[in-house]
Amino acid sequence: IVADHTLDPKTAVSKPFLCAIPYKEVCQLFQEIETTSSRLSIIKLCSDFLIKIMKQDPQNLIPVTYLFINKLGPDYEPGLELGLGEGLLMKTISESCGKSLTQIRAQYRELGDLGQIALEARNVQPTMFKPKPLTVGEVFNNLKMIAKAAGKDSQTKKIKLIKRMLTACEDGVEAKFLIRSLESKLRIGLAEKTVLISLSKALLVKEFDANKDFDMELLETAEGKIRDAFCQVPNYEIVINSCLQYGIMNLNEHCSLRPGIPLKPMLAKPTKAINEILDRFQGETFTSEYKYDGERAQVHLLEDGTMRIYSRNGENMTERYPEIHIGDFVKDRNETKTLILDCEAVAWDKEQQKILPFQVLSTRKRKDVLAKDVKVRVCLFAFDILCHNSNKLINYSLKERREILHRVTTPAPGEFQYATELTTSNLDELQKFLDQSVNDSCEGLMVKMLEGEESHYEPSKRSRNWLKLKKDYLEGIGDSLDLCVLGAYYGRGKRTGTYGGFLLGCYNDNTGEFETCCKIGTGFSDEMLQQLHEKLKATVIDGPKATYIYDSSAEPDVWFEPSLLFEVLTADLSLSPIYKAGSSAYDKGVSLRFPRFIRIREDKGVEDATSSEQIIELYENQSHRSS
Ligand code: ATP
Repeated sequence: IVADHTLDPKTAVSKPFLCAIPYKEVCQLFQEIETTSSRLSIIKLCSDFLIKIMKQDPQNLIPVTYLFINKLGPDYEPGLELGLGEGLLMKTISESCGKSLTQIRAQYRELGDLGQIALEARNVQPTMFKPKPLTVGEVFNNLKMIAKAAGKDSQTKKIKLIKRMLTACEDGVEAKFLIRSLESKLRIGLAEKTVLISLSKALLVKEFDANKDFDMELLETAEGKIRDAFCQVPNYEIVINSCLQYGIMNLNEHCSLRPGIPLKPMLAKPTKAINEILDRFQGETFTSEYKYDGERAQVHLLEDGTMRIYSRNGENMTERYPEIHIGDFVKDRNETKTLILDCEAVAWDKEQQKILPFQVLSTRKRKDVLAKDVKVRVCLFAFDILCHNSNKLINYSLKERREILHRVTTPAPGEFQYATELTTSNLDELQKFLDQSVNDSCEGLMVKMLEGEESHYEPSKRSRNWLKLKKDYLEGIGDSLDLCVLGAYYGRGKRTGTYGGFLLGCYNDNTGEFETCCKIGTGFSDEMLQQLHEKLKATVIDGPKATYIYDSSAEPDVWFEPSLLFEVLTADLSLSPIYKAGSSAYDKGVSLRFPRFIRIREDKGVEDATSSEQIIELYENQSHRSS
């Protein structure tokens, strides 16, 4: 049973929400959160609010949760991105408050925050007549219409809808957060993890006793169950409705993975040497696979015979691969109606019958791809099966999952193959297999627990039951890092006119803050610096955000909105008084020594940056720690 009763069964698109909560109340809460720094206080503010609105109607939880995380629906539902350009928003604010565009632009240069401009404009504007106050339902549905508006009149339609909402705002605070939501920059430091905890608390109150203070254990159990359900079904509407319908304690029986909804993929921990792997898996049966260098592809075959391919972030990228038809590789279509496979899509040279580097794959068009125009072919390398018909397989051992994968699919060279594998615990054989993987154009190995409970598939988890061994990084800390660009230093000499160096930070997913960890100026070509200057200058902000944790001695010349991740290599990690990564664990922060730019990470959002916890772990796993 799917508890998403507000979804239209044919289109799987949500119907409009009827939520009568005044939008003003949500904005007042945002304002309060913006000035609160303690995470516990923020959780309390959020959960108290959710409890209050839930008592009026539990369905209110759905649109309010989405407003909290500044999204309009699940990541896999297309066309729900806001992120409206500042040009359009400045035009709309100017038209609705009677100020000239030149004035608004000048104010923007000064303040760097369109929300603040809308707030000030709204506060001084006299209202001739009073439209009805905005409700959460109305704002949420309008935001959806704005996101989905397409075609030649879409600009006019968007402006009209925004103006109507701005006029209905009762005060400046509403206008401020409306504009920030439209920009997809809520900027209040509310991490999704915090929202999930607050939501668990509210749902617990609903289920048990409205006035009870729960013990930590019960709260943690509830959080765990809701998180597990969300990792398998990353859709708040379905998770919340399932909780309401079946109860939190029964949630996982009713709300689990299903074809058509991308579950959050399992992730691996880095290692620096084969010895480390042997130590970890001592006495256990483990298996090694080639680590292909392409793009993660979660492939779903649906009941109606259609197929969907989802990215590492759960984005629907089926259109990007029109040449792939998973049905062609299913052994018996009468026996196999639905499937979920975990694969890596890799660029493939058809003539030479070999793998091409990742750079070749990234030259493929991302949109409107026609099968006849595909120049760079892709081969799918399948390494896991997560669902077969009504059998959810994540709690089977990897050995069993592999057997099922091989039983129900048929490989075809250059189109659909199984990941090359070897099961051995012999050091020499593993070394040879690692070398062989690199000769075959792979990055190294993925080493996985093969039998028993520890070999189950753990959605979303970076697990020590999957270890990655990347040949290129064996000399360093075992892996590259994906860090967010927070600021830049003006270039000198040959680099005058562009940025010459950048301030990077990792993401603390407990606090929603970015913690600085290095300055980088190495590894960039001149073209790349030009390209980065073009890209980043549009994101310049007036000063550091409240969510940037930095030391004034590393203050950059310009600050940016978080929008871009750099993949970075480092010689090693050391403690530094200047940087702040993981500074909650040590007095000093962890920083990168001799960082080197590798590439821009296009496939990750800023919140997917390497986390503070990961950096601390990498630092502690170094054989020698320098400080
Ligand atoms: P993260 O660990 O954060 O996902 P990343 O996106 O940079 O980092 P890697 O560190 O390169 O990814 O390693 C994990 C990725 O390796 C998987 O997400 C998957 O796309 C890819 N991969 C290639 N071959 C395999 C395999 N045999 N088993 C599992 N994953 C594989």
